[in-house]
Amino acid sequence: MERERIEAYFADKEPLLIDAVKRLVSIDSTEGEPAPGAPFGPGPAAALDEALKIAAEWGLIPTNHEGYVGAADLNDKEDALHILGHLDVVGPGEGWTVTPPFSPIVSDGLIYGRGTDDDKGPVAASLLAMKAVKDLGVPLTKNCKVLMGTNEESGSGDIAWYFARHPFAPATFTPDSGFPVINTEKGALRPTFTRSWPEQAGLPRLRWLHGGIRFNVLPGDASAAVEGLTMYDVQPFARKVTAHTGITFTFASEDGLTVIRAKGTGSHAAFPQGGNNAITGLVTLLCELPLAPGGARAALDDLNALLPHGDYEGRALGIAQEEPVAGPLTLAFSLLEVNDTGLKGTFDSRVPLCATEDNCLKVAKAAFEAKGFTFEGVQQKPHHTPADSDFVKTLLRRYEEYTGLKGECLSTGGGTYVHDIPGGVAFGCSMPGFDTHLHGADECARISDLMLSAKMFAHIIIDMCA
Ligand SMILES: [Zn+2]
Repeated sequence: MERERIEAYFADKEPLLIDAVKRLVSIDSTEGEPAPGAPFGPGPAAALDEALKIAAEWGLIPTNHEGYVGAADLNDKEDALHILGHLDVVGPGEGWTVTPPFSPIVSDGLIYGRGTDDDKGPVAASLLAMKAVKDLGVPLTKNCKVLMGTNEESGSGDIAWYFARHPFAPATFTPDSGFPVINTEKGALRPTFTRSWPEQAGLPRLRWLHGGIRFNVLPGDASAAVEGLTMYDVQPFARKVTAHTGITFTFASEDGLTVIRAKGTGSHAAFPQGGNNAITGLVTLLCELPLAPGGARAALDDLNALLPHGDYEGRALGIAQEEPVAGPLTLAFSLLEVNDTGLKGTFDSRVPLCATEDNCLKVAKAAFEAKGFTFEGVQQKPHHTPADSDFVKTLLRRYEEYTGLKGECLSTGGGTYVHDIPGGVAFGCSMPGFDTHLHGADECARISDLMLSAKMFAHIIIDMCA
């Protein structure tokens, strides 16, 4: 009965949805300089104003929380459900071919533009679901609130600010990921380790090493310079290391030094097995070379023992562990800088539900400190909402009913927008197997997926609030 009314209501609403997505995507809402009422810059603030305007036009109650977060409410009753989306976007980047990033267009059932999938399309679908419940006149005993953040892509300072002042709802989902439900997110350990030494006089010696681009990217490139060895001296060792690591090396002579460039395969730090780490490959090679004894040489040997090539589970550190819900601990050695008198490095480890500070942070710290490194870092807790909660069961039931696909709970090594929200899960809006070019060029959303999401959300709002 409810399903038929919802289907009938949405039959002619696609143009409304497309128009709303276009209005939001036309605004460049990448982070900018803070201004009064615009804590994350004028772009996110303008997108928030536009979204609140749409909410008001659609009969919802709009509130601007000082430019951090916008809210659209159905009524003034107690909140039973929060739907949490965001209006900021990552920078456009290069390589757009279908349309410029902030000039959204529809082509072949897809809508293209920065933010169409992440996360303005899903925000528009959520607002349309609210409008449906309102227009259908379903009697409600509770409220649903769509919360629209403005800082998800660069730190989530928006919802930290909001939830420091306002209560959580008993149930929250964020349509900022994919279907079906993500109810488990690993915790994280991202320490920084350092070590210093007196400059080494004897040759051959390492002069510098640069590896990595971001703490959360397994690096595909790294380079180093050695003094006192020619590229012809290094090549036989490099061939051997390539044979058992798959990392390839190229060489150049620069300023009397032999520069070694290591090439592996980059990957997201949460999925290190998908890559081949150029830093650890390069360290492996440097440890094979006949470098003279000294501080740099000793530090490289110790690093090679603590974070050896191919160890993406933290086995050498003694922190490898797994449980059936979130899976194994993963580890990506992501940043390393070495100069004549010291080094600084970072790894990004994603830890499962069984990880504690005692069996993870403290063990890794002790292993590094035992070899003379300074080690600093905090361990972020994992997030888990039970799969057998009424809320999650409701989401999965409606998902199966509307899509005809199997509903199931998934675990991720990355964090979602609800990582710090008790009872929160990620739900929608892209369907399994569809590539939205998230954060890349030609980002797009399938309009039929957004419409299907809006219908499902409307039914779920009724389930939770009627
Ligand atoms: Zn997002």
